[in-house]
Amino acid sequence: MLASRFSRRVLILIGLGVTFPALLLAGLGAFLTRGVSQALDAQTDRYHLYMAQQTVAGFERELLAHLRERIAPAENAARSGDDLSVRAMLEAAAAPDEPAAFVSLAQITDYYLLLVESTPLVYQSGAEDARGRRFAGLMLRDRTGQVIGAGGWWIEPGVFVSQHLQAVVEERIVGDERMYGGIESRRQVSLAALAPDGITIASVRTPGSNPHPVEVAMEGPFEGYRIRATASTSAPIGSTKRLITLNLAFIGVMVAVLLVATFFGLRYTVRQIELARIKSSFLSNVSHELKTPIALIRLAVETLEMGRVQSPEDRDKFLRRISRETVRLNQLVENILDFARLEAGQRTFRFQDVDVAEMVRETVDSYRLRIEDQGFTLTLDLPHDLPHVRGDGPALAQCLLNLLDNAVKYSRDRKEIRVVGVVRENLVGISVADRGIGIAPRDQRKIFEKFVRLEDGLVHDVKGAGLGLSLVRQIVRAHSGRVEVASVPNEGSTFTLWIPRAAGSAATVTSEAPTGS
Ligand code: ADP
Repeated sequence: MLASRFSRRVLILIGLGVTFPALLLAGLGAFLTRGVSQALDAQTDRYHLYMAQQTVAGFERELLAHLRERIAPAENAARSGDDLSVRAMLEAAAAPDEPAAFVSLAQITDYYLLLVESTPLVYQSGAEDARGRRFAGLMLRDRTGQVIGAGGWWIEPGVFVSQHLQAVVEERIVGDERMYGGIESRRQVSLAALAPDGITIASVRTPGSNPHPVEVAMEGPFEGYRIRATASTSAPIGSTKRLITLNLAFIGVMVAVLLVATFFGLRYTVRQIELARIKSSFLSNVSHELKTPIALIRLAVETLEMGRVQSPEDRDKFLRRISRETVRLNQLVENILDFARLEAGQRTFRFQDVDVAEMVRETVDSYRLRIEDQGFTLTLDLPHDLPHVRGDGPALAQCLLNLLDNAVKYSRDRKEIRVVGVVRENLVGISVADRGIGIAPRDQRKIFEKFVRLEDGLVHDVKGAGLGLSLVRQIVRAHSGRVEVASVPNEGSTFTLWIPRAAGSAATVTSEAPTGS
Protein backbone atom coordinates (compact mmCIF):
# COMPACT_ATOMS: atom_id res chain seq x y z
CA MET A 1 0.00 0.00 0.00
CA LEU A 2 2.73 2.38 1.14
CA ALA A 3 4.94 1.21 -1.71
CA SER A 4 2.27 1.77 -4.34
CA ARG A 5 1.55 5.28 -2.99
CA PHE A 6 5.29 5.92 -3.04
CA SER A 7 5.66 4.56 -6.58
CA ARG A 8 2.76 6.71 -7.77
CA ARG A 9 4.45 9.73 -6.22
CA VAL A 10 7.76 8.89 -7.96
CA LEU A 11 5.96 8.54 -11.29
CA ILE A 12 4.22 11.88 -10.86
CA LEU A 13 7.53 13.48 -9.82
CA ILE A 14 9.33 12.14 -12.89
CA GLY A 15 6.42 13.13 -15.10
CA LEU A 16 6.00 16.65 -13.74
CA GLY A 17 9.60 17.38 -12.86
CA VAL A 18 11.44 16.09 -15.91
CA THR A 19 9.36 14.80 -18.79
CA PHE A 20 6.67 17.45 -18.84
CA PRO A 21 9.05 20.48 -18.76
CA ALA A 22 11.33 18.83 -21.33
CA LEU A 23 8.41 18.12 -23.66
CA LEU A 24 7.16 21.66 -23.12
CA LEU A 25 10.58 23.07 -24.04
CA ALA A 26 10.81 20.83 -27.10
CA GLY A 27 7.33 21.94 -28.15
CA LEU A 28 8.31 25.58 -27.65
CA GLY A 29 11.48 24.99 -29.69
CA ALA A 30 9.48 23.43 -32.51
CA PHE A 31 6.91 26.24 -32.36
CA LEU A 32 9.58 28.97 -32.52
CA THR A 33 11.46 27.21 -35.31
CA ARG A 34 8.23 26.92 -37.27
CA GLY A 35 7.55 30.60 -36.63
CA VAL A 36 10.99 31.56 -37.94
CA SER A 37 10.45 29.32 -40.96
CA GLN A 38 7.08 30.90 -41.74
CA ALA A 39 8.47 34.46 -41.34
CA LEU A 40 11.33 33.54 -43.65
CA ASP A 41 8.91 32.14 -46.23
CA ALA A 42 6.73 35.26 -46.07
CA GLN A 43 9.79 37.50 -46.45
CA THR A 44 11.07 35.44 -49.37
CA ASP A 45 7.66 35.49 -51.07
CA ARG A 46 7.52 39.29 -50.81
CA TYR A 47 10.98 39.62 -52.21
CA HIS A 48 10.28 37.25 -55.07
CA LEU A 49 7.05 39.08 -55.88
CA TYR A 50 8.99 42.32 -56.04
CA MET A 51 11.56 40.76 -58.39
CA ALA A 52 8.89 39.29 -60.68
CA GLN A 53 6.95 42.59 -60.82
CA GLN A 54 10.13 44.49 -61.62
CA THR A 55 10.93 42.05 -64.43
CA VAL A 56 7.43 42.40 -65.91
CA ALA A 57 7.68 46.23 -65.83
CA GLY A 58 11.18 45.95 -67.32
CA PHE A 59 9.77 44.19 -70.37
CA GLU A 60 7.42 47.08 -71.15
CA ARG A 61 10.30 49.54 -70.91
CA GLU A 62 12.47 47.26 -73.03
CA LEU A 63 9.79 47.16 -75.71
CA LEU A 64 9.41 50.95 -75.58
CA ALA A 65 13.16 51.47 -75.98
CA HIS A 66 13.21 48.91 -78.80
CA LEU A 67 10.45 50.74 -80.68
CA ARG A 68 11.76 54.23 -79.98
CA GLU A 69 15.15 53.46 -81.46
CA ARG A 70 13.75 52.37 -84.75
CA ILE A 71 10.67 54.55 -85.24
CA ALA A 72 12.46 57.96 -85.37
CA PRO A 73 12.65 58.15 -89.24
CA ALA A 74 8.91 57.31 -89.47
CA GLU A 75 8.15 60.11 -86.99
CA ASN A 76 10.00 62.60 -89.18
CA ALA A 77 8.09 61.38 -92.21
CA ALA A 78 4.80 61.68 -90.28
CA ARG A 79 5.44 65.39 -89.71
CA SER A 80 5.37 65.84 -93.49
CA GLY A 81 1.88 64.28 -93.40
CA ASP A 82 2.56 61.77 -96.18
CA ASP A 83 1.32 58.25 -95.35
CA LEU A 84 3.33 56.61 -98.08
CA SER A 85 6.65 58.02 -96.91
CA VAL A 86 5.76 56.94 -93.34
CA ARG A 87 5.22 53.39 -94.55
CA ALA A 88 8.44 53.49 -96.51
CA MET A 89 10.42 54.65 -93.46
CA LEU A 90 8.84 51.98 -91.28
CA GLU A 91 9.63 49.26 -93.75
CA ALA A 92 13.20 50.46 -94.06
CA ALA A 93 13.70 50.23 -90.26
CA ALA A 94 11.98 46.81 -89.92
CA ALA A 95 13.92 43.66 -89.19
CA PRO A 96 13.31 40.74 -91.62
CA ASP A 97 11.22 38.77 -89.05
CA GLU A 98 9.29 41.85 -87.83
CA PRO A 99 7.17 43.19 -90.70
CA ALA A 100 6.35 46.92 -90.30
CA ALA A 101 2.78 48.20 -90.19
CA PHE A 102 1.10 51.62 -90.30
CA VAL A 103 -2.24 52.05 -88.51
CA SER A 104 -4.17 55.15 -89.62
CA LEU A 105 -6.03 57.34 -87.12
CA ALA A 106 -9.38 55.88 -88.24
CA GLN A 107 -8.25 52.37 -87.14
CA ILE A 108 -6.68 53.42 -83.87
CA THR A 109 -9.89 52.83 -81.82
CA ASP A 110 -9.45 49.06 -82.26
CA TYR A 111 -6.08 49.24 -80.57
CA TYR A 112 -5.14 49.47 -76.92
CA LEU A 113 -2.84 52.01 -75.37
CA LEU A 114 -0.38 51.25 -72.64
CA LEU A 115 1.36 54.16 -70.95
CA VAL A 116 4.99 53.44 -70.37
CA GLU A 117 7.04 56.27 -68.90
CA SER A 118 4.26 58.68 -70.09
CA THR A 119 4.60 57.44 -73.67
CA PRO A 120 1.55 55.64 -75.12
CA LEU A 121 2.41 52.22 -76.48
CA VAL A 122 -0.08 50.96 -79.05
CA TYR A 123 -0.87 47.28 -79.33
CA GLN A 124 -3.57 45.06 -80.68
CA SER A 125 -4.83 42.92 -77.85
CA GLY A 126 -5.49 39.24 -78.49
CA ALA A 127 -5.29 39.68 -82.25
CA GLU A 128 -2.49 37.65 -83.67
CA ASP A 129 -1.46 37.01 -87.21
CA ALA A 130 -1.09 33.50 -88.62
CA ARG A 131 2.35 33.11 -87.04
CA GLY A 132 1.12 34.15 -83.59
CA ARG A 133 2.70 37.61 -83.88
CA ARG A 134 1.22 40.69 -82.22
CA PHE A 135 1.34 44.32 -83.25
CA ALA A 136 3.24 46.79 -81.05
CA GLY A 137 3.93 50.40 -82.00
CA LEU A 138 4.04 54.13 -81.09
CA MET A 139 1.86 57.15 -81.90
CA LEU A 140 2.90 59.24 -84.95
CA ARG A 141 2.11 62.97 -85.06
CA ASP A 142 2.04 65.58 -87.81
CA ARG A 143 3.68 68.95 -87.81
CA THR A 144 0.90 70.45 -85.63
CA GLY A 145 1.27 67.72 -82.99
CA GLN A 146 -1.97 65.95 -84.02
CA VAL A 147 -1.92 62.12 -83.90
CA ILE A 148 -2.32 60.90 -87.43
CA GLY A 149 -1.78 57.18 -86.78
CA ALA A 150 0.55 54.67 -85.26
CA GLY A 151 3.55 52.90 -86.65
CA GLY A 152 5.12 49.71 -85.45
CA TRP A 153 5.98 46.09 -86.08
CA TRP A 154 4.48 42.64 -85.77
CA ILE A 155 6.52 40.97 -83.11
CA GLU A 156 6.45 37.45 -81.61
CA PRO A 157 6.02 37.97 -77.84
CA GLY A 158 7.63 34.64 -76.94
CA VAL A 159 10.70 35.36 -79.03
CA PHE A 160 10.95 38.90 -77.67
CA VAL A 161 10.61 37.75 -74.05
CA SER A 162 13.13 34.93 -74.39
CA GLN A 163 15.64 37.15 -76.22
CA HIS A 164 15.48 39.98 -73.73
CA LEU A 165 15.00 38.27 -70.35
CA GLN A 166 18.69 38.30 -69.43
CA ALA A 167 19.06 41.97 -70.41
CA VAL A 168 15.89 43.01 -68.57
CA VAL A 169 16.98 41.25 -65.37
CA GLU A 170 20.58 42.45 -65.43
CA GLU A 171 20.04 46.01 -66.66
CA ARG A 172 16.59 47.20 -65.83
CA ILE A 173 15.95 45.87 -62.33
CA VAL A 174 17.08 47.94 -59.35
CA GLY A 175 20.57 46.67 -58.68
CA ASP A 176 20.28 46.63 -54.90
CA GLU A 177 22.60 43.79 -53.94
CA ARG A 178 21.35 43.23 -50.44
CA MET A 179 17.66 43.42 -49.70
CA TYR A 180 15.41 42.45 -46.85
CA GLY A 181 18.11 42.37 -44.20
CA GLY A 182 20.57 40.73 -46.54
CA ILE A 183 18.70 37.43 -46.67
CA GLU A 184 18.63 37.50 -50.46
CA SER A 185 20.34 39.44 -53.19
CA ARG A 186 19.34 39.86 -56.82
CA ARG A 187 21.99 37.38 -57.88
CA GLN A 188 20.38 34.67 -55.80
CA VAL A 189 16.99 34.75 -57.45
CA SER A 190 16.18 32.63 -60.46
CA LEU A 191 13.79 34.26 -62.96
CA ALA A 192 12.01 32.34 -65.69
CA ALA A 193 9.66 33.41 -68.48
CA LEU A 194 6.76 31.02 -69.07
CA ALA A 195 4.70 30.79 -72.26
CA PRO A 196 0.86 30.65 -72.00
CA ASP A 197 1.09 26.82 -72.18
CA GLY A 198 3.33 26.79 -69.06
CA ILE A 199 6.54 25.92 -70.87
CA THR A 200 9.66 27.78 -69.72
CA ILE A 201 10.96 29.71 -72.71
CA ALA A 202 13.89 31.44 -71.01
CA SER A 203 15.50 31.57 -67.57
CA VAL A 204 18.19 33.39 -65.65
CA ARG A 205 20.00 31.14 -63.13
CA THR A 206 18.91 27.65 -62.06
CA PRO A 207 16.01 27.60 -59.59
CA GLY A 208 16.63 26.04 -56.16
CA SER A 209 14.49 23.50 -54.35
CA ASN A 210 12.71 26.15 -52.26
CA PRO A 211 9.04 25.33 -52.76
CA HIS A 212 7.94 28.98 -52.91
CA PRO A 213 7.91 30.16 -56.50
CA VAL A 214 6.08 33.44 -57.11
CA GLU A 215 4.51 34.17 -60.51
CA VAL A 216 3.35 37.47 -62.03
CA ALA A 217 1.29 37.60 -65.25
CA MET A 218 2.39 39.95 -68.04
CA GLU A 219 -0.02 42.31 -69.77
CA GLY A 220 -0.29 44.36 -72.95
CA PRO A 221 1.60 42.95 -75.92
CA PHE A 222 2.90 40.07 -73.74
CA GLU A 223 -0.51 39.02 -72.45
CA GLY A 224 -0.60 35.31 -71.42
CA TYR A 225 3.09 35.16 -70.57
CA ARG A 226 4.27 34.94 -66.96
CA ILE A 227 7.44 35.65 -65.00
CA ARG A 228 8.33 33.22 -62.23
CA ALA A 229 10.75 34.13 -59.41
CA THR A 230 12.31 31.41 -57.22
CA ALA A 231 15.36 31.21 -54.99
CA SER A 232 18.33 30.05 -57.04
CA THR A 233 20.38 26.99 -56.09
CA SER A 234 23.05 29.20 -54.51
CA ALA A 235 20.58 31.19 -52.36
CA PRO A 236 21.12 31.29 -48.59
CA ILE A 237 17.39 30.79 -48.14
CA GLY A 238 17.96 27.20 -49.29
CA SER A 239 20.57 26.48 -46.64
CA THR A 240 18.53 28.35 -44.03
CA LYS A 241 15.54 26.14 -44.80
CA ARG A 242 17.77 23.07 -44.56
CA LEU A 243 18.98 24.28 -41.15
CA ILE A 244 15.41 24.75 -40.01
CA THR A 245 14.47 21.26 -41.18
CA LEU A 246 17.56 19.90 -39.40
CA ASN A 247 16.58 21.77 -36.26
CA LEU A 248 13.06 20.34 -36.34
CA ALA A 249 14.43 16.84 -36.96
CA PHE A 250 16.83 17.30 -34.03
CA ILE A 251 13.96 18.35 -31.76
CA GLY A 252 12.01 15.30 -32.96
CA VAL A 253 14.92 12.96 -32.16
CA MET A 254 15.35 14.64 -28.76
CA VAL A 255 11.68 14.09 -27.95
CA ALA A 256 11.92 10.44 -29.06
CA VAL A 257 15.06 9.89 -26.92
CA LEU A 258 13.39 11.61 -23.98
CA LEU A 259 10.28 9.47 -24.28
CA VAL A 260 12.30 6.26 -24.58
CA ALA A 261 14.52 7.27 -21.63
CA THR A 262 11.46 8.16 -19.55
CA PHE A 263 9.83 4.86 -20.44
CA PHE A 264 12.89 2.82 -19.40
CA GLY A 265 13.51 5.04 -16.37
CA LEU A 266 9.95 4.57 -15.18
CA ARG A 267 10.08 0.84 -15.83
CA TYR A 268 13.31 0.56 -13.86
CA THR A 269 11.91 2.64 -10.98
CA VAL A 270 8.70 0.64 -10.87
CA ARG A 271 10.72 -2.61 -10.86
CA GLN A 272 12.93 -1.36 -8.04
CA ILE A 273 9.91 -0.33 -6.01
CA GLU A 274 8.27 -3.66 -6.72
CA LEU A 275 11.48 -5.45 -5.67
CA ALA A 276 11.60 -3.46 -2.44
CA ARG A 277 7.97 -4.39 -1.79
CA ILE A 278 8.65 -8.06 -2.56
CA LYS A 279 11.70 -8.07 -0.28
CA SER A 280 9.80 -6.60 2.61
CA SER A 281 6.94 -9.06 2.17
CA PHE A 282 9.58 -11.84 1.90
CA LEU A 283 10.96 -10.86 5.30
CA SER A 284 7.55 -10.86 6.92
CA ASN A 285 6.70 -14.19 5.21
CA VAL A 286 9.93 -15.79 6.40
CA SER A 287 9.59 -14.59 9.96
CA HIS A 288 6.04 -15.90 10.01
CA GLU A 289 7.19 -19.20 8.49
CA LEU A 290 9.86 -19.56 11.17
CA LYS A 291 7.75 -18.52 14.10
CA THR A 292 4.77 -20.76 13.43
CA PRO A 293 6.53 -24.16 13.66
CA ILE A 294 8.62 -22.95 16.61
CA ALA A 295 5.47 -21.89 18.46
CA LEU A 296 3.77 -25.21 17.67
CA ILE A 297 6.79 -27.24 18.79
CA ARG A 298 7.07 -25.21 21.98
CA LEU A 299 3.41 -25.71 22.78
CA ALA A 300 3.60 -29.44 22.17
CA VAL A 301 6.79 -29.82 24.25
CA GLU A 302 5.32 -27.79 27.10
CA THR A 303 2.13 -29.86 27.05
CA LEU A 304 4.18 -33.06 27.20
CA GLU A 305 6.45 -31.65 29.92
CA MET A 306 3.52 -30.77 32.11
CA GLY A 307 2.33 -34.33 31.84
CA ARG A 308 -1.08 -33.31 30.58
CA VAL A 309 -1.12 -35.98 27.92
CA GLN A 310 -2.02 -39.30 29.40
CA SER A 311 -2.80 -41.76 26.63
CA PRO A 312 0.03 -43.21 24.52
CA GLU A 313 -1.98 -42.39 21.34
CA ASP A 314 -2.18 -38.72 22.26
CA ARG A 315 1.50 -38.68 23.10
CA ASP A 316 2.25 -40.17 19.70
CA LYS A 317 0.11 -37.50 18.08
CA PHE A 318 2.06 -34.76 19.86
CA LEU A 319 5.38 -36.35 18.97
CA ARG A 320 4.32 -36.64 15.32
CA ARG A 321 3.35 -32.99 15.31
CA ILE A 322 6.74 -32.05 16.76
CA SER A 323 8.47 -34.18 14.15
CA ARG A 324 6.38 -32.68 11.30
CA GLU A 325 7.01 -29.11 12.38
CA THR A 326 10.73 -29.82 12.83
CA VAL A 327 10.93 -31.18 9.29
CA ARG A 328 9.06 -28.13 8.00
CA LEU A 329 11.38 -25.80 9.90
CA ASN A 330 14.39 -27.65 8.65
CA GLN A 331 13.19 -27.49 5.06
CA LEU A 332 12.61 -23.76 5.26
CA VAL A 333 16.02 -23.10 6.80
CA GLU A 334 17.62 -25.32 4.11
CA ASN A 335 15.78 -23.43 1.40
CA ILE A 336 16.91 -20.07 2.74
CA LEU A 337 20.52 -21.19 3.21
CA ASP A 338 20.59 -22.82 -0.21
CA PHE A 339 19.09 -19.77 -1.81
CA ALA A 340 21.69 -17.52 -0.15
CA ARG A 341 24.50 -19.85 -1.30
CA LEU A 342 23.17 -19.98 -4.85
CA GLU A 343 22.80 -16.19 -4.98
CA ALA A 344 26.36 -15.78 -3.75
CA GLY A 345 27.59 -18.39 -6.24
CA GLN A 346 28.84 -20.53 -3.33
CA ARG A 347 26.53 -23.49 -3.70
CA THR A 348 28.56 -26.47 -4.81
CA PHE A 349 27.05 -29.67 -6.13
CA ARG A 350 28.58 -33.09 -5.70
CA PHE A 351 27.78 -34.82 -8.94
CA GLN A 352 27.65 -38.58 -8.91
CA ASP A 353 25.61 -41.38 -10.33
CA VAL A 354 22.09 -41.07 -8.85
CA ASP A 355 19.52 -43.83 -8.94
CA VAL A 356 16.54 -41.59 -9.57
CA ALA A 357 13.93 -44.24 -8.82
CA GLU A 358 15.50 -44.92 -5.46
CA MET A 359 15.81 -41.23 -4.61
CA VAL A 360 12.17 -40.52 -5.60
CA ARG A 361 10.85 -43.53 -3.68
CA GLU A 362 12.67 -42.54 -0.47
CA THR A 363 11.60 -38.92 -0.67
CA VAL A 364 7.97 -39.77 -1.44
CA ASP A 365 7.81 -42.36 1.33
CA SER A 366 9.18 -39.96 3.91
CA TYR A 367 6.77 -37.31 2.70
CA ARG A 368 3.76 -39.63 2.70
CA LEU A 369 4.04 -39.99 6.48
CA ARG A 370 3.89 -36.24 6.91
CA ILE A 371 0.68 -35.72 4.97
CA GLU A 372 -1.34 -38.85 5.52
CA ASP A 373 -3.22 -37.38 8.50
CA GLN A 374 -4.20 -34.36 6.34
CA GLY A 375 -6.19 -36.66 4.07
CA PHE A 376 -3.90 -36.70 1.01
CA THR A 377 -3.44 -39.72 -1.23
CA LEU A 378 0.01 -39.87 -2.71
CA THR A 379 0.54 -42.33 -5.57
CA LEU A 380 3.85 -43.20 -7.12
CA ASP A 381 4.27 -44.51 -10.64
CA LEU A 382 7.85 -45.31 -11.58
CA PRO A 383 8.96 -47.51 -14.50
CA HIS A 384 11.00 -50.40 -13.20
CA ASP A 385 14.13 -49.47 -15.18
CA LEU A 386 14.27 -45.68 -14.91
CA PRO A 387 17.78 -44.65 -16.02
CA HIS A 388 20.22 -43.16 -13.56
CA VAL A 389 21.18 -39.49 -13.83
CA ARG A 390 24.40 -37.69 -13.03
CA GLY A 391 23.69 -35.23 -10.30
CA ASP A 392 23.59 -34.22 -6.69
CA GLY A 393 21.11 -36.62 -5.04
CA PRO A 394 20.22 -34.50 -1.96
CA ALA A 395 19.77 -31.39 -4.14
CA LEU A 396 17.41 -33.27 -6.48
CA ALA A 397 15.52 -34.66 -3.48
CA GLN A 398 15.17 -31.11 -2.20
CA CYS A 399 13.63 -30.10 -5.55
CA LEU A 400 11.14 -32.94 -5.34
CA LEU A 401 10.31 -32.04 -1.74
CA ASN A 402 9.61 -28.45 -2.73
CA LEU A 403 7.26 -29.60 -5.50
CA LEU A 404 5.48 -31.99 -3.11
CA ASP A 405 5.22 -29.27 -0.52
CA ASN A 406 3.61 -26.91 -3.05
CA ALA A 407 1.22 -29.63 -4.23
CA VAL A 408 0.02 -29.99 -0.64
CA LYS A 409 -0.10 -26.24 0.05
CA TYR A 410 -2.06 -25.35 -3.07
CA SER A 411 -4.67 -28.12 -3.02
CA ARG A 412 -8.18 -27.59 -1.68
CA ASP A 413 -10.63 -30.49 -1.45
CA ARG A 414 -9.22 -32.84 -4.05
CA LYS A 415 -6.21 -34.04 -2.11
CA GLU A 416 -4.64 -36.25 -4.73
CA ILE A 417 -0.98 -36.11 -5.59
CA ARG A 418 0.69 -38.26 -8.20
CA VAL A 419 4.42 -38.67 -8.75
CA VAL A 420 5.41 -40.16 -12.09
CA GLY A 421 8.79 -41.06 -13.58
CA VAL A 422 9.20 -40.77 -17.37
CA VAL A 423 11.92 -40.83 -20.01
CA ARG A 424 12.00 -38.64 -23.09
CA GLU A 425 14.98 -39.04 -25.41
CA ASN A 426 18.02 -38.49 -23.17
CA LEU A 427 16.08 -36.83 -20.35
CA VAL A 428 14.68 -38.39 -17.23
CA GLY A 429 11.55 -36.64 -15.95
CA ILE A 430 10.02 -36.64 -12.50
CA SER A 431 6.60 -35.04 -12.41
CA VAL A 432 4.44 -34.07 -9.47
CA ALA A 433 0.76 -33.59 -10.31
CA ASP A 434 -1.88 -32.20 -8.01
CA ARG A 435 -5.57 -31.37 -8.39
CA GLY A 436 -5.32 -28.06 -6.65
CA ILE A 437 -6.01 -24.42 -7.47
CA GLY A 438 -3.88 -24.38 -10.65
CA ILE A 439 -2.01 -21.43 -12.12
CA ALA A 440 -3.26 -18.98 -14.76
CA PRO A 441 -1.23 -19.18 -18.04
CA ARG A 442 0.03 -15.59 -17.66
CA ASP A 443 1.59 -16.45 -14.26
CA GLN A 444 3.24 -19.70 -15.26
CA ARG A 445 6.59 -18.10 -16.10
CA LYS A 446 6.53 -15.63 -13.21
CA ILE A 447 6.29 -18.21 -10.43
CA PHE A 448 9.89 -19.34 -11.00
CA GLU A 449 11.26 -15.92 -10.10
CA LYS A 450 12.58 -15.36 -6.61
CA PHE A 451 10.20 -13.99 -3.94
CA VAL A 452 7.24 -14.25 -6.30
CA ARG A 453 3.98 -15.41 -4.70
CA LEU A 454 0.76 -15.13 -6.61
CA GLU A 455 -1.94 -13.04 -5.01
CA ASP A 456 -4.73 -15.63 -5.22
CA GLY A 457 -6.99 -16.14 -2.26
CA LEU A 458 -5.55 -19.48 -1.20
CA VAL A 459 -1.96 -18.32 -1.56
CA HIS A 460 -2.75 -15.56 0.91
CA ASP A 461 -3.77 -18.11 3.52
CA VAL A 462 -0.88 -20.45 2.83
CA LYS A 463 2.54 -19.76 4.23
CA GLY A 464 5.51 -19.49 1.97
CA ALA A 465 8.59 -17.41 1.24
CA GLY A 466 8.40 -17.45 -2.58
CA LEU A 467 11.75 -19.25 -2.78
CA GLY A 468 10.85 -22.88 -3.51
CA LEU A 469 10.40 -22.79 -7.28
CA SER A 470 13.22 -20.33 -7.84
CA LEU A 471 15.48 -22.74 -5.97
CA VAL A 472 14.17 -25.70 -7.97
CA ARG A 473 14.89 -23.91 -11.24
CA GLN A 474 18.42 -22.96 -10.20
CA ILE A 475 19.26 -26.48 -9.04
CA VAL A 476 17.81 -28.11 -12.16
CA ARG A 477 19.69 -25.67 -14.40
CA ALA A 478 22.93 -26.53 -12.59
CA HIS A 479 22.19 -30.10 -13.74
CA SER A 480 21.75 -28.89 -17.36
CA GLY A 481 18.08 -29.74 -17.04
CA ARG A 482 14.88 -27.73 -16.86
CA VAL A 483 11.62 -27.53 -14.97
CA GLU A 484 8.28 -27.36 -16.78
CA VAL A 485 4.79 -26.54 -15.60
CA ALA A 486 1.45 -27.48 -17.13
CA SER A 487 -1.53 -26.13 -15.29
CA VAL A 488 -5.22 -25.33 -15.63
CA PRO A 489 -6.78 -22.99 -13.04
CA ASN A 490 -9.06 -24.86 -10.63
CA GLU A 491 -8.07 -28.18 -12.22
CA GLY A 492 -4.52 -28.72 -11.01
CA SER A 493 -0.85 -28.41 -11.87
CA THR A 494 1.91 -30.71 -13.00
CA PHE A 495 5.52 -29.71 -12.43
CA THR A 496 8.16 -31.83 -14.17
CA LEU A 497 11.89 -31.90 -13.47
CA TRP A 498 13.85 -32.90 -16.58
CA ILE A 499 17.42 -34.07 -15.89
CA PRO A 500 19.82 -35.50 -18.52
CA ARG A 501 20.42 -39.14 -17.86
CA ALA A 502 23.88 -40.39 -16.93
CA ALA A 503 26.19 -41.29 -19.82
CA GLY A 504 26.06 -45.03 -20.43
CA SER A 505 22.82 -45.41 -18.53
CA ALA A 506 20.61 -47.29 -20.97
CA ALA A 507 16.99 -46.31 -21.26
CA THR A 508 14.44 -48.84 -22.26
CA VAL A 509 11.34 -46.99 -21.13
CA THR A 510 9.83 -44.18 -23.18
CA SER A 511 6.64 -42.50 -22.15
CA GLU A 512 5.04 -39.08 -22.23
CA ALA A 513 4.91 -36.68 -19.30
CA PRO A 514 1.43 -36.49 -17.81
CA THR A 515 -0.51 -33.27 -18.27
CA GLY A 516 -1.66 -30.76 -15.69
CA SER A 517 -5.04 -31.88 -14.55
P1 ADP B 1 5.92 -20.38 -1.96
O1 ADP B 1 5.18 -21.65 -2.18
O2 ADP B 1 6.77 -20.39 -0.77
O3 ADP B 1 5.04 -19.19 -2.06
P2 ADP B 1 7.25 -21.08 -4.44
O4 ADP B 1 8.41 -20.46 -5.14
O5 ADP B 1 7.35 -22.52 -4.11
O6 ADP B 1 6.96 -20.18 -3.19
O7 ADP B 1 5.99 -20.87 -5.37
C1 ADP B 1 5.74 -19.60 -5.92
C2 ADP B 1 4.24 -19.42 -6.18
O8 ADP B 1 3.84 -20.31 -7.22
C3 ADP B 1 3.37 -19.78 -5.02
O9 ADP B 1 3.23 -18.66 -4.14
C4 ADP B 1 2.06 -20.14 -5.69
O10 ADP B 1 1.34 -18.96 -5.97
C5 ADP B 1 2.50 -20.75 -7.00
N1 ADP B 1 2.52 -22.23 -6.98
C6 ADP B 1 3.58 -23.03 -6.78
N2 ADP B 1 3.23 -24.34 -6.85
C7 ADP B 1 1.91 -24.36 -7.10
C8 ADP B 1 0.95 -25.43 -7.26
N3 ADP B 1 1.29 -26.72 -7.20
N4 ADP B 1 -0.34 -25.07 -7.51
C9 ADP B 1 -0.69 -23.77 -7.59
N5 ADP B 1 0.16 -22.72 -7.43
C10 ADP B 1 1.45 -23.02 -7.18
